[in-house]
Order: sequence, then C-alpha cells, then structure tokens
Amino acid sequence: MDTLEKVEILGRSAQYDLCGEACGSEATRKRDDLGRWIYPAVLPDGRRVKLLKVLLTNACEGDCAYCANRRGRDFRRVSFAPEELARAFEGMWRRGQVEGLFLSSGVCGHSGQTMDRMIATVEIIRQRLSFPGYVHLKILPGATQAHVERAMQLADRVSVNLEAPNPARLNLIAPGKDFANALLEPMRWVQRLREESGGRLAPAGHTTQFVVGAAGEPDREILATTDLLYRELGLTRAYFSAFQPVPDTPLEGHPSTPLWREHRLYQSDWLLRKYGFTFEELIFDEEGNLPRQADPKMMWATAHPERFPVEVNQASREELLRVPGIGPRAAARIVWLRRQGKFRELSDLRHVGAIPQRAAPFVLLDGRRPPYQLPLW
Ligand code: SF4
Repeated sequence: MDTLEKVEILGRSAQYDLCGEACGSEATRKRDDLGRWIYPAVLPDGRRVKLLKVLLTNACEGDCAYCANRRGRDFRRVSFAPEELARAFEGMWRRGQVEGLFLSSGVCGHSGQTMDRMIATVEIIRQRLSFPGYVHLKILPGATQAHVERAMQLADRVSVNLEAPNPARLNLIAPGKDFANALLEPMRWVQRLREESGGRLAPAGHTTQFVVGAAGEPDREILATTDLLYRELGLTRAYFSAFQPVPDTPLEGHPSTPLWREHRLYQSDWLLRKYGFTFEELIFDEEGNLPRQADPKMMWATAHPERFPVEVNQASREELLRVPGIGPRAAARIVWLRRQGKFRELSDLRHVGAIPQRAAPFVLLDGRRPPYQLPLW
C-alpha cells in the first residue's frame, strides 16, 4: 500500500478523535485533490490554518465499546512507521497543503510502544524536518510520565481523552481503561509540568474529550467533572462528542445522542469558562440533563427574576454577562462605549454585537423597558 493511501485510511479513522481546533463541525473538513482529510482550524492564538488529522495506526488492542477502531472489528488495519508519516506530512506541508498536525493513534501492542512511535514521528518532523508550526499530540491511556514530558516538549497542545465523567461510567464503555491511573494521572503530570515550565511546555495547553450519551450519564456528571478539571487540573478546554453508534460494536444498537445535547453542553461550558458562572448555578432537569427548551443562560435568567432588569448604562461587566444575548465581547464594548453616550434603543445593543430580542426582557435602557415579544417557549 502506498503512503497516500495510508494517509487516506488513517485520516478517515481519525474522524472519531475530535480535533478541538477544527472550525465548526467535523463536517467542514475537506478532501484535498488526493483524497486526504484536511481540517480548516482556528489555533488557540486565533490564527486560521489547515490541519492534517491522522492516526499513526488504526490497529488497536483496546475494546472500547463505542469505538470503530476497537480490536476484533473487521476492517482494514493500517500503520505508519514514524519516518513514513513524517515524510508524508513534510510533503503536504512543503506544498502548502497543510500548516499543522493533529496526531492520534490506536494502541498497537503496548501503549508505551505506540507513544514511542508517535513521539518519534514528531521528533523527526520538528528536529530533522524543522517544522516550526502547530502540533497537537494525543497522549494515550497509560502513557508514562517520561512520555508526557517529551510530548509536551514537542507539541503545542496535548490531550488526554477521558471519554466518560467518572470511573463507573468509563467502566461501562471502556472496561480496559483505568480512569484514575491511566487518564487522570497523566492529566496531573501535564498540569504540573506546565506549571513548572511557566507554560513553556505545551504552550497551547491541554484538552480532553467526552463521548456523550454512550454510558447513560446525565449532563450533570459530565459538567461536574469538566468544572473540576478546569479548577483543579488547569484544563484548557473540554470537547463533547455526541455518541453515534458504529456497526459491529457492542453499542451498535444504542440510540445516537442528539446533536442539540452536545450543543447545550458547549453552551454550558462557555458559561463556566467565559461568563463567570459556577457549576452550582447551572440548571438541570430531574434526570440531571440540561433542558432542551432554552439555552442554559436563558434558563438561569428566567429562574432568577430578582437579578433583572439590569440597567445597561450602569451595570457592571459581570452583570451584563448574565443577560441573555450579551456575550463577553458585547459586554466589553458596552462598558467602553457608554462613556461616550447612553444606550437608549435596542438597535444600540445590536451595534455592539448583542442580540437585542434576547436581551430585551432583561434590561432597562436609560430607565425604560424596551418593547419585546414574549418568547414562544
Ligand atoms: S483505546 Fe479505545 S478509544 Fe482508543 S482507539 Fe482503541 S478502542 Fe478506540
């Protein structure tokens, strides 16, 4: 099999690894003229680049019940040698087809051996081929501290995928993975090494991913763990992947998770990371899930009439951020622009990037309630 064919197969196998930098949905990925998967991506510093997302191998000893690459599934298994993948990447990079790399892998043999080969690949790309651009390297479950440290020296960002929010849930879908020792512990090493290096190692931070809905876990469990990871392990971002059943796996008959659930989790995650909300302030239904009928911020605002309306011309940035339809950028612009003149009309909110019809029921504009229609929900 030639190298291009391997890139095609292992690029397709990598689709289940969420590439946090990818813009929009994974569906925005494009095939280049040779059939390889290229992802338009936004880097943590805001730059837009094209990433090659690929596995080193899709041969895996793991038996994760949701995974297309699990052992025993009948499909074509392919592996790269480090030199081979590094050269394939170099060709694409030098032709201007890609500007960065996201490298993950199945666990072929022992996870330490696979990590050795992943690291060897990036060492060639960095040291021999002098690639200066963006690299995101996945850390496999059970990697050693030495692997983690070397990966962080080479990559801009690393990730350890928890897949489930706690050991009991993980045991239902990936019984071969040890939540505490093989996943959480490497995340602790990442945090400690980042702190000790002053952010020099893995400067774009570390991320994780959850498969949503495969283990019957409610949103409350996922967000409780996410919140803990942000506060205690310095996690940069969490990603949520709605479970989709894969044929010929133990979960092939399990219902797929609706995409709106994934969307609600991302909205809640933004509230935790960008809006100053605490986990305790999120509103869940009786089953512990985020309600479908309204976004989490609207749910909170509706449940707290004592906090509204807020006067746009006087409210603090923190108070503005609690108003549905006003995001961090709009709040900052309101605080800046109101020094020059009062906000009097809903159109003034539109001009700063807020969504006036969402904000209207919760604000005063120069002492007056703006006109609005009650939302249908
Ligand atoms: S370890 Fe589990 S999730 Fe990772 S590739 Fe193997 S079977 Fe899939």
